[in-house]
Amino acid sequence: MSFENSLNYARACDSQDPLRAFRDKFHIPQFNGAPVVYLTGNSLGLQPKTVTAYLLQELHDWASLGVEGHVKAKHPWMLYHEFLTPAMAEIVGAEPSEVVMMNQLTVNLHLLMVSFYRPTGKRKKIICEHKAFPSDQYMFQSQMHWHGLNPETDLISAKPRTGEWHLRTEDVIQLIQMHADELALVCFGGVHYYTGQLMDMPAITRAAHQAGALAGFDLAHAAGNVELKLHDWNIDFAAWCSYKYLNSGPGAVAGIYVHKKHHQRTDLKQFSGWWGHDAASRFKMPETFKPMSTAERWQLSNAPVLSMAACRASLDLFLEAGTSQLFKKSKMLTAYLDFIIRDLNKQYANALEIITPDARGAQVSVVAHGYGKNLFEAMTASGIIADWREPNVIRCAPVPLYNSFEDVFRFGQILSQLQGTL
Ligand SMILES: *Cc1c(COP(=O)(O)O)cnc(C)c1O
Repeated sequence: MSFENSLNYARACDSQDPLRAFRDKFHIPQFNGAPVVYLTGNSLGLQPKTVTAYLLQELHDWASLGVEGHVKAKHPWMLYHEFLTPAMAEIVGAEPSEVVMMNQLTVNLHLLMVSFYRPTGKRKKIICEHKAFPSDQYMFQSQMHWHGLNPETDLISAKPRTGEWHLRTEDVIQLIQMHADELALVCFGGVHYYTGQLMDMPAITRAAHQAGALAGFDLAHAAGNVELKLHDWNIDFAAWCSYKYLNSGPGAVAGIYVHKKHHQRTDLKQFSGWWGHDAASRFKMPETFKPMSTAERWQLSNAPVLSMAACRASLDLFLEAGTSQLFKKSKMLTAYLDFIIRDLNKQYANALEIITPDARGAQVSVVAHGYGKNLFEAMTASGIIADWREPNVIRCAPVPLYNSFEDVFRFGQILSQLQGTL
């Protein structure tokens, strides 16, 4: 694909973009009377304009119906989580019975670990990626402590080779094979939050299973960002948040996936609550827990309807746009950003190092050698909202639902003007 670093070219791409109308369905923060160049949808997705109406519906039903809204609301609250499932299942490539929205991401990871991290005998190790997101590291460490194990010896992290930024699949597989006898679980981020690397989830899952271990993924940066086929890839479990690429608002309700082969297992341990109890007898208030026979079995509490209403507004937009169209545009838009950064390097004397590999979603992570946080702060002061991660990375996420090729062009223009002023 040959790109051009010009406004005319960027506008021509936008005019041919079948998803161009979706940008106008989002609120875009303003800067000096114009939309900012928003490249932080991987941290907090923008607000769909329809969120207001979806929320008002629930506020109205609450005001006019009180407790009766559980059954009489336009979208009865008792079933509210079910309204999110079909779209969510499609986005992550799962069967509807394998997905449910509940709680938040780190909470869900802990709940899934209760069932799927069952260290027994010498099979007690976990393999994860080096520099996993801090919350995930704390989760792994505390799970090990809870089982009386030592993360220093039993939590193994897969590190890139010296001088490299990202993991090679063959190295991950070799590490899994090396620990095969002692391995309980392999659990990676599907897309790494820092480098933006998209992991080979099917290959890692196959290797984990061959080693006699389970495979789980944290999809915080993958859900709504890259094509997923959780069921076909035979992944055991996964969890994700919905406020990043899924645009459901700060702290929004999160999602889990559990492969259906685990749904009816009677040997599984789990932490239980009434919303995971068989729906038909839930309100008979029985004393003994009878699990649902779907992923809903892991639910504890009744649905957080207001958070879910915002999530539903956003998932409906995903359905409308179609994930295949979205991911197709995403590849082009991210490739355009990659091209613009490489073009800027003529001016920046190659100081802008892209550390994201070609296996990626809508994110390009850049180390600006010799510029560091100065460049990031100057970008922010000039109307670009990107993201800084310690110690030295600027993350830029051009999101196909609302970012345009013109956004990416303007990003390049601003950085071009900043060069020499820093
Ligand atoms: C964003 C993110 C989190 C955040 O966890 P919350 O429980 O939603 O606060 C955790 N893990 C990863 C990999 C993330 O990217």
